[in-house]
Amino acid sequence: MAQQTFGFIGLGNMGAPLATHLIKAGHALVVCDNNDVAAALMTAQGAKRVATPAQVAQEVEVIFLSLPTPEIVEAVCLGVNGIRDGTKVREVVDLSTIGPRAAKVVAEGLAAKNITYVDSPVSGGVTGAVKGTLAVMVSCPRANYDALAPLLGKFGKVFFLGEKAGQAQTMKLANNVMSAAAVAITSEAVVMGVKAGLDPKVMLDVINNGSGRNTASADKFPRCVLTRTFDVGFSAALAYKDVRLCVDEAEHIGVPMIVGSAVRDMLSITTSFIGKDADFVDVVRVCEAWAGVEVRG
Ligand code: NAD
Repeated sequence: MAQQTFGFIGLGNMGAPLATHLIKAGHALVVCDNNDVAAALMTAQGAKRVATPAQVAQEVEVIFLSLPTPEIVEAVCLGVNGIRDGTKVREVVDLSTIGPRAAKVVAEGLAAKNITYVDSPVSGGVTGAVKGTLAVMVSCPRANYDALAPLLGKFGKVFFLGEKAGQAQTMKLANNVMSAAAVAITSEAVVMGVKAGLDPKVMLDVINNGSGRNTASADKFPRCVLTRTFDVGFSAALAYKDVRLCVDEAEHIGVPMIVGSAVRDMLSITTSFIGKDADFVDVVRVCEAWAGVEVRG
């Protein structure tokens, strides 16, 4: 792809490494983030910072979003000083997790201004974002997908889910309820073993060579729990948002999600118990506190 100038709004744990991939590929960026520290990290790499999403949309044709919640994405796209007010923008590539219904609302709001919404959530965490090994799930008109796929390939492996906004979000929610369930059930099982006197390192070795193996046991627990760093880089609040969106969507379309509801409640308890900045793997600290033990390497 020829060198271009792109917009990037939301430069947090995921947005910063993904924006950096675009810069490293030789593209210029116009960025917007209401956190000065996050914006400064990108201006230090040559990006131009502007104050509002509308200003980004005034300067570039394609804007990437990596924002926390559906409400924020709606405000940034359709609200006052939002992307919809810019005259140059033609396409919004949304890497955020916002659920299928919000994706449809945003897509319709942007379509009224002839702006195409590309539903494009990602999975694989901060590590995957930094390494460019994410799963990138895309739903949008096929022609937009074909044009964008090489660029999205900088972020990881790209998958086409369909032409409708929301299809990629549904895929992402299904993935994340499984990822969160792995964290929750691994927390309970390992805490049980530790309370009964087992070594958690040996437990994880057994699990990872046995049928209990999952992304929490294989990666998150050895890296961020045994070491007591609790720094996966995905907040429990955002994980709760994802699982809540999933359970709500399942209920909306008539699919019972009993295990998903329990996982959602564990994440809600984690932010109440540990605090609003709790990390995804802080779920284990709730189980530890209830059981009166610690999972240490
Ligand atoms: P984050 O909180 O680290 O970053 C969000 C950024 O958006 C922050 O820099 C914040 O200042 C900025 N922001 C918030 N409101 C804004 C506004 N109105 N205008 C401009 N900037 C604004 O979140 P994150 O972990 O990077 O996640 C971003 C999205 O990616 C979320 O939807 C999340 O669910 C999803 N996601 C996260 C991970 C992960 O491991 N962290 C993995 C996959 C998907």
